[in-house]
Amino acid sequence: MSLSDEELERYARQIVLPQVGGVGQRRLKEASVAIIGAGGIGNAVIPALAGAGVGRMTIIDSDVVELANLHRQPLFGESDAGKAKAELAAEFVCKLNRFVEVEPKRDRIGRDNAERLLGGHGLVIDGSDNFETRLAVSDACGALGIPLVSAAAVQFQGQVGLFRARPCYRCFVGDAFDADDCDNCAELGVLGALTATVGGFAALLAINSIVGVGDDQSGQLHLLDGEKLSWRAIRIPADPACRTCGSA
Ligand SMILES: [Zn+2]
Repeated sequence: MSLSDEELERYARQIVLPQVGGVGQRRLKEASVAIIGAGGIGNAVIPALAGAGVGRMTIIDSDVVELANLHRQPLFGESDAGKAKAELAAEFVCKLNRFVEVEPKRDRIGRDNAERLLGGHGLVIDGSDNFETRLAVSDACGALGIPLVSAAAVQFQGQVGLFRARPCYRCFVGDAFDADDCDNCAELGVLGALTATVGGFAALLAINSIVGVGDDQSGQLHLLDGEKLSWRAIRIPADPACRTCGSA
């Protein structure tokens, strides 16, 4: 897949990076990424990937814009209340970069449709707001063999991890949360600057993974403390009894 003169000019500031170059830019163009959730995290991930030139993006979100979203979802404005987030986010991508093929899906992703919605993508970024969805997405990614960037932000805490086969996201959280929306930011609250930071980190992790920058980050969980303003990384051990990726 070659790059046109216009693409070479558009992406000049990242092609000049020795870690990216023309090879990395072509990898981005060939990439196909599904983004789950056009909420706070999605609002940071979507512009970063579209700007970087990810060739194909699918945006999955069933919600409509509400006034209480606007403090952390800058892709939307006051006049968008009641409109579908997936479609508005896709319109933003089209406006930003016509070289990106974007498909909005106004679906609530769950156990019944995750494999159908995610099949055919090279990477999934999950910025959804509850454990039930995240576990269904993780299990589907495990079954399909698709690497998963899972990102979450609530109150002043953020976490981002890349999961590739083993260990998986379920190794990290276990089975207790399959039917429990226990960490919804509607009740717990979150700052827009925190979701933007976590979403930006998730986008960087995704781009590095696609391009091949740095060491493989799979199995590492990056934790942000938004009060102390510090990141730390922990290694997730594979759970031998894991329902998704375990050997049992
Ligand atoms: Zn697992």
